[in-house]
This record gives sequence, C-alpha cells and structure tokens, in this order.
Amino acid sequence: MGLRYQQPQGRQTKMQLKTLLNHVQKHKGFVYESVRLEEQGRPRLVVDIRPRRGSRGRCSGCKQRRAGYDTLPVRFFQFVPLWGLLVFFRYEMRRVDCPKCGVKVETVPWAEGKSPITTTYAWFLAMWAKRMSWSEVARHFKTTWDTVFRAVELAVEWGLDNRDLTGIRSLGVDEVLWHRGHKYLTVVYQIDGHCRRLLWVGKDRTRATIDDFFKWFGLRAQHLRFICSDQHKPYLASIAKYASKAVHVLDRYHLVARLNKAIDNVRASEAKRLKRDGYEPVLKKTRWLLLKRPENLRGDQRTKLADVLRYNIKTVRAYLLKEELQQLWDYSSPTWAGKFLDRWCSRVMRSRIEEMKKVARSFRGHRELILNWFRARAAISAGSTEGLNNKLKVTLRRAYGFRTLKATKIALYHSLGALPQPAVTHEFF
Ligand SMILES: [Zn+2]
Repeated sequence: MGLRYQQPQGRQTKMQLKTLLNHVQKHKGFVYESVRLEEQGRPRLVVDIRPRRGSRGRCSGCKQRRAGYDTLPVRFFQFVPLWGLLVFFRYEMRRVDCPKCGVKVETVPWAEGKSPITTTYAWFLAMWAKRMSWSEVARHFKTTWDTVFRAVELAVEWGLDNRDLTGIRSLGVDEVLWHRGHKYLTVVYQIDGHCRRLLWVGKDRTRATIDDFFKWFGLRAQHLRFICSDQHKPYLASIAKYASKAVHVLDRYHLVARLNKAIDNVRASEAKRLKRDGYEPVLKKTRWLLLKRPENLRGDQRTKLADVLRYNIKTVRAYLLKEELQQLWDYSSPTWAGKFLDRWCSRVMRSRIEEMKKVARSFRGHRELILNWFRARAAISAGSTEGLNNKLKVTLRRAYGFRTLKATKIALYHSLGALPQPAVTHEFF
C-alpha cells in the first residue's frame, strides 16, 4: 500500500486512505473528503470530514436530528497513527436549533463531547496502557500523559457502565497501602472460580468505607456465599451486617501475612538484643530468608538459612513454628484441620515468645473463620486474593506519580477490573 507522500493531493493517496478509513470506520451521515499530508513540524495526515449532503446534525442534548443553526470554527480530532504518521480528522462542528434543548453543538459519532481525540484512538491508547506505563504510552505515541489518562478514563467509564455484575458468589476484601505508604485503600475482589477481578475501590479502611461498598453492591449481597478478608474489625462488623448469609473466611494469605509480621518483629528485637549484648550478628541479612518459603530460596540462601537454624534463639523457634503451621493447608476436612490448629496454638502458647502467643490467641479467637477456609475452598479460587494483590501492588508502583485518588482508581480498574470493551472497537494490532 504505497502512499505517495510527494503528491499529497494525488489521487492514489486519497483513494487508498479513504478506502481504508471507510473499511475501518464508517460514520453514517458523514463522508471522508480529502486527505492531505502536512509537513510543517512533525508530518501528519489530515483527513477532512464533512456531513453527507442533506443530512442534519444530531443535538448533543437529546440526540435527535435537528435543523442546522450555524457552523463553528474547525476542530481537529486525533486518530490512530498510520505508518508512524499522526492522523487527524478535521471537521467543522455544526450547531443545531433544537426545539427541546435550544441552540446546541451537534454530537459526532467519532468522538465524545469536547474530547480532542477520537474514540477509536482512545481505545487504542487504553489498550497499550495495559501493557506499558502511561508515561511510556505517551512517549511512544508522541502524545501527552494527560491524553493517555483521558483515554484510559473513557475506557474505564465505559467498562464500568457495561460490566456484568450477575452471578457474584465470592468476594475478597483487602486493605492496601497507598500514597507513598501513608494512606489506605479498601479493595473488593470477586474471587469466584470462573471470574476473578477487581470490583470496587474505596478510600481508607474504616467502617464507612466498607459500608459504602455494601450500599453500592445492594441486594446482590444476599446471594453471596463466601467472603474472604483479614481480621480487621470494621470489615468483620460490616460483613456481618450486610452479608449475614455468607460464610466469612479468614484466608490463608492473611494468616500467613500475620505470622510473617510476628516473625519479623521477633527477629528485629532479637537482632538488636544480640548486638547490644555483644554476640555475633547471626541474624544479619536474614529477613527475607525467614519470610520466604524455603522452596523459593536460592542455593546459597538455603545454606545461610540452615546456618541460622542451628542456633537456639527465639527467632529460630518462631520460624519453626511458622513452618509447622504450613501443614494446616494440606488438610481437606475442617474437623481435622481444626484439631491440628488447636495443637499448634497450644504449642505456641508454651513457646514463651510473646509476639507468637499474640498470633495464637488471635487464631483461637477466629477459629471458625479460619476453618471456613476449608469449607469454602472448593468454591473460591485458591490464592486468588494473593494473586490479585500482587498485581495490584505492581500497578500502584507503576502509578507512583499519581497524585489523585481518581487517577489511582482508574489505573486499578483498568488493569484489574477485567472490564468489557465495545464490540465495535477495531483491533489495530
Ligand atoms: Zn435537543
């Protein structure tokens, strides 16, 4: 498909690009006119659009076709780049005289409201924004961060308006640190075996936050079968109120996170004590060795771990207790899992490690919710909260520069919401 750049008004250029545009995107009531290559600055293709003869403009208020009033100065709408060239639609918007809405600017099928980019280009950018950071997309396609943001926003808003919320049976509720680690967000995932996605994001992790979720979720809460969350009290209270029929599950991910936090505290204070008392620094650089699963360690890390484990110190005893609890997850019967959990808690209570005893007390207090994990795990997709959380953290890191909650939410829905796209969106890649 050779474009003759030297002959911008040439017949071949005009014919081919028009044919292509009509193939990719035809708009009722409008025709593509001339195509020009403008070479001052960065070369760009400008495609003139005009109304089909005799067709009337659509009122942007009521969407009805109305009589013309006047014509506004020319506007440009950016389209998907072709062969590395920027492409713009050029069109003079009409105003219509609407008996219902008064004098109104017309609405055009290729762009929303005052947007300077076409809807097709917005979807194109939004798709790339799933694969790269927004600033990378902006750099790559020679546009601004703001344009990419608007594009993703459009895609997310459409997706949220058109997503299917039927058949939701299992939820995962979680809190994540946001804004350079100073503030919290509450996130709610759907964690059904057939569908895992981000459903909702709210500011803070208060009772009001989670109540807002349930108010939005409405009567659907009556159909919930399982809800996974941690022991955060406001969550427990709200879930008990709004989803009383659902089985509440304290999931594996959160229990392990709780244990890891305890181990970390034991290690930190013991390392300090050893240093103060002049012992050799056996706990130096052991933090990740103790938090990771042993099977995920490299050879040299395993050697180092084995070395540390020879010492009879609190940190090691706490670590071994944590590793012992791993067996819990091998049980399938809630009854046997319960017996194992009770034995483990008793042993921890004799350990004389205060941090670990706190954990055991909390596990005892939430025994039934923990065992619900075994009752639920056929239905919910195991490890799903953890998987979604990891992806969420990557998105938040990438979105590090985001100042506003709005932009952060849009980024999260975009990458984790599994949002639908309009069927008419043409695939450009
Ligand atoms: Zn109108």
